[in-house]
Amino acid sequence: MNERVRSLTNKYEEKMLELRRRMHRRPELSNEERETAALVKSVLEEAGVEVRPGVGGNGVVGVLQGDVPGACVALRADMDALPMEEKTGLSWASEVKGVMHACGHDAHTAMLLGAALVLSEMKKELPGTVKFLFQPAEEANPVGGAPAMIQQGALRNPDVDAIFGMHVWPSLVTGTVGTRPGALMGASDRLFLTVRGKGAHGSEPENGVDAIAIAAQLISALQTVVSRNVSPLDAAVVSIGVIKGGDRYNVIADEVVLEGTVRTVDPVTQEKMPGRIEAIVRGVARGMGGDCDMEYVKGYPPLMNDAELAKTAISALKKVVGEDKIVHVEKPALGGEDFSFFTREVPGLFMWLGCRAEGVSKEQTPPLHNNGFLPDEKALSLGVETLVSCALEYLEDRKGA
Ligand SMILES: [Zn+2]
Ligand SMILES: [Zn+2]
Repeated sequence: MNERVRSLTNKYEEKMLELRRRMHRRPELSNEERETAALVKSVLEEAGVEVRPGVGGNGVVGVLQGDVPGACVALRADMDALPMEEKTGLSWASEVKGVMHACGHDAHTAMLLGAALVLSEMKKELPGTVKFLFQPAEEANPVGGAPAMIQQGALRNPDVDAIFGMHVWPSLVTGTVGTRPGALMGASDRLFLTVRGKGAHGSEPENGVDAIAIAAQLISALQTVVSRNVSPLDAAVVSIGVIKGGDRYNVIADEVVLEGTVRTVDPVTQEKMPGRIEAIVRGVARGMGGDCDMEYVKGYPPLMNDAELAKTAISALKKVVGEDKIVHVEKPALGGEDFSFFTREVPGLFMWLGCRAEGVSKEQTPPLHNNGFLPDEKALSLGVETLVSCALEYLEDRKGA
């Protein structure tokens, strides 16, 4: 089976890379992925895969039903680019001013198309169904593109039993793939606070309520949510990045506005944060004679990898990259990823595909969301093989289950 996957991947490598460069030249922002979706549709149709366009905006679902009955596994890629000016200097750099594939979603889409091309040639021996989910708007936090696809039935008809996804990961070297069971990526929420006091002359504080003094207490008190309400063995961060208040040196300010971010890993901790934060900010503000309004905007939930699927993926990866090239990720990253919406619906597994060229240091490698970001193209065939092998391994495991 593995030689067959490898030889089919080699067969389609050039086509896959060409598709990737084509998408790289024509990046589209979140919810504007029309050209990309049309390209995806045409490649899937050519490969004989059933296509369902317009699933959750520009989302495209491909369905490949194998000739052998079995379970249904989904593979997901995102398609959107970022509002950035590309500075890679490539001959095939973005032709769209101010828009760039700086998160590698062009590579994700190309790899998933590669996987569809490979698997479509294995239809006769395929024990089940593979669904290919091409998702829009991954970068559109806090809404994202996954929820609309889910609402519009991407995981139904047939029902998806498990889902795999992958992100190019520049801190890992080409040839390696990383993952871990449990949390892989964090939740990213936003916090808006408005402290209300009462204005007065700076020389007569007893006649006012000082919103700046309240804000000062609030900022310190907020840290007790992390230190006193979250287990020391769990991860959480509350950071205030904006504070605005006051008009004049000798006037007691009547209002202060604060904005911040709240990052968590455990979904239970994420649930707990708004309530704890609100109790603290209101309590402190009221205790000092003022008040505080809170707006808490939930972003993407934490991305939780299924432990059983992690075993499936690792068993597949041993054959694809070899035991020594599997990176057992120790700690989750606190960046958000809306694949997490899928993992709330069905067991899911997300992986990081190493894309830092060999011999290049981490310091010399532009990170994600940098206008010089350039994943090593050599990594992409391995990405195709990984996706295909995870799907096959899962379907084989489920045979007769
Ligand atoms: Zn991104
Ligand atoms: Zn991304």
